[in-house]
Amino acid sequence: MAYLSARTGVAVPVAAGQQLTVTNTHGQQVVDMWALDAHDASRFVSAPHTWMRTGRLSIRAGDELSDTARRPLLAFDEDTSSGEHDLLIPSCDIARYRELGVEGYHDNCRDNYFEALAAADIEPLPFVPQPLNLFMRVPIAADGSVSIQPPVSKPGDRVRFTALEDVIVVLSACPQDLAPTNGPGRVPTGVAYEVVGAAEGAR
Ligand SMILES: [Zn+2]
Repeated sequence: MAYLSARTGVAVPVAAGQQLTVTNTHGQQVVDMWALDAHDASRFVSAPHTWMRTGRLSIRAGDELSDTARRPLLAFDEDTSSGEHDLLIPSCDIARYRELGVEGYHDNCRDNYFEALAAADIEPLPFVPQPLNLFMRVPIAADGSVSIQPPVSKPGDRVRFTALEDVIVVLSACPQDLAPTNGPGRVPTGVAYEVVGAAEGAR
């Protein structure tokens, strides 16, 4: 089990057949998650293609997560949380923190994405795909309005994915501390993650 420190990101190779678990150690931490084809960084899990496939604006255990050509890259196997995950809200970035009044630098999921991939020697496309925001609670009202609410996940809640191809998963422990994204206390925390299982063999 590895630990992703509060406010930071990491790129995790997960070979086809292996499983990745992400555990919400403290309970209310949102984790921005992306998955790229390990052999072609222009292929990535696409949130809209995924919800088009599932027919709902969230993901549930049993769903497959698709790329922009509608080919599944990951299977979502298990979810011990209440099942609230967001596919709509873009990553936080420095522009968002400017809107919130921050004048200097503020850690953000966009920079975590690029820094984690650079540290893994992977050159991604020059934009940040829409993340899967694990444990993020964004209720959609009947009139279509959305709001970001504190998560309802609990300490130890866990999600598990199986790689259907060799992928690089990027995780960012969201550093949002000015809105209740990571709980009413607005204190970002770390999360635990682990890759288990045998690879099916390289493509
Ligand atoms: Zn964030």
